[in-house]
Amino acid sequence: MRLKIPKLSFCTAGVTFLLISAVSWNRSVTESHPNLLIVYPDQMRAQAMGFMKQDPVITPTLDALSKSSLVLTNAVANYPVCSPSRAMLMTGKYPFSNHVTYNCVSDAAHFEIELKESERCWSDVLRDEGYELGYIGKWHLDAPRRPFVKCRNNYTDFAWNEWCPPHRRHGFSFWYAYGTYDYHNQPMYWDTDAGRDDFHLVDEWGPVHEADMAIRYIQNENGMLRDPGKPFALVVAMNPPHDGMKDYEEVPQNYVDLYDGFTYKDLINRPNVVLEGGRYSGFAREQTKNYFAMVSGVDEQFGRILEALSEKGLDSNTIVLFLSDHGNCMGNHEHHGKGIYYEESMRIPFLIRWPGKIEARFDDLLISVPDIYPTLLELMGFGEKIPAGVEGESHASIFLTGEGERPSSQFYLWTPQLINPALGMRGIRTNRYTLAIDRSYTDRYNCCLYDNRNDPYQLNNIASENPDIVRQLIEQEMDPWLEKTGDPWSLTWPCENSADRLFLNDENLSNTGYDY
Ligand code: CA
Repeated sequence: MRLKIPKLSFCTAGVTFLLISAVSWNRSVTESHPNLLIVYPDQMRAQAMGFMKQDPVITPTLDALSKSSLVLTNAVANYPVCSPSRAMLMTGKYPFSNHVTYNCVSDAAHFEIELKESERCWSDVLRDEGYELGYIGKWHLDAPRRPFVKCRNNYTDFAWNEWCPPHRRHGFSFWYAYGTYDYHNQPMYWDTDAGRDDFHLVDEWGPVHEADMAIRYIQNENGMLRDPGKPFALVVAMNPPHDGMKDYEEVPQNYVDLYDGFTYKDLINRPNVVLEGGRYSGFAREQTKNYFAMVSGVDEQFGRILEALSEKGLDSNTIVLFLSDHGNCMGNHEHHGKGIYYEESMRIPFLIRWPGKIEARFDDLLISVPDIYPTLLELMGFGEKIPAGVEGESHASIFLTGEGERPSSQFYLWTPQLINPALGMRGIRTNRYTLAIDRSYTDRYNCCLYDNRNDPYQLNNIASENPDIVRQLIEQEMDPWLEKTGDPWSLTWPCENSADRLFLNDENLSNTGYDY
């Protein structure tokens, strides 16, 4: 189902721009810079919001928020995997520039795959501009080092989780977080002053506990958690709806009960899921309800945070941004999770609310994760402070007026190997097509092309019938991205006549082996 996307006419936008400019100028004398609240659940696909009218999921908070927000319906995670996506958000750079080309796990520590202390993140800029910053939840930007932290998801030879020491927190002075830890019913946290061995466990569903903490931070009774005289930026990075230790079953029953009476056929309305006899048929049938229940839980807890903001009288001077680090296939295209170029894996929620400044509407802007950093800083009045190394583009003008230069595509990448990151998959997504090329395990460049307008569920790879479109997308869109982002794929990818080396077939490729 396609959404009707209203756009501002030029004249309307021009008047709006003048009005906004005048209002901003008048207010800037007396008003401080806005607060920022980012709510950032893990693995929540864009389709899983009720108002999108795709997945039959129950999300009253997001449905209501969509009516007062700018909703970007084409937001994607360019590298739809946890740490690479989070690092792009923090640095405004693509993976080959910020060096987070793989998940931050112990095997990657040797390659120094983690968020570097020397990066200047948006949070560093805000700290230097006088903000108070708080981080709650999942961080996943430190490489685990030996001896591994003694916790349940770290083992003798392999570790996921690591403490983030204060000097690596990029300006966040309030800290209630962990690296990665998928026990939703008993999450763990390091608080601001805790040492590496001083984490604690909590017997409560993660999003409930983190919403409580976020509400405390917003309320800030007696100025205990932040300097009340300064603007603040708070990130609440919930772990659900990511799967936990047993698929998606770690979710409070009251959220599962919301879906009483729904059969799996009611819930799985996307025709790209094989319901019988497929690799993930049983998984999809059994777990989709739980995934949606987790989404409903995140939605309700997000609603509590918004209520606290409102009660504190902070709505008008706080930018609220809701997004995720990547999506989730849940069996779509015979795929379990993320990493891949399919819509369910790449597309992320993106709602931004700033009353009186950003007009509520839907927009099909092709925003990429690294664009968020410069866009936010410019919106907040710090456009001059964006470091030169940031690769994302600011879309602040489009956010505020509907007018501005629009990108023609979004870059996609995924690397399967630490030793040779030039391998893997690369591609682009336009407002019509997804093109992806896979060179993971062979010397051949296997190519997929989907027409997302006429085939929204990406059921037909049409690369072989459309070599001219393939060539055009490679030369006009993909090659410039490879060059701009310093991608080592270029070393093996002969830009001249590159399309001639493609293997165009008519089957879905890359359906095995890529899943994390
Ligand atoms: Ca993730």
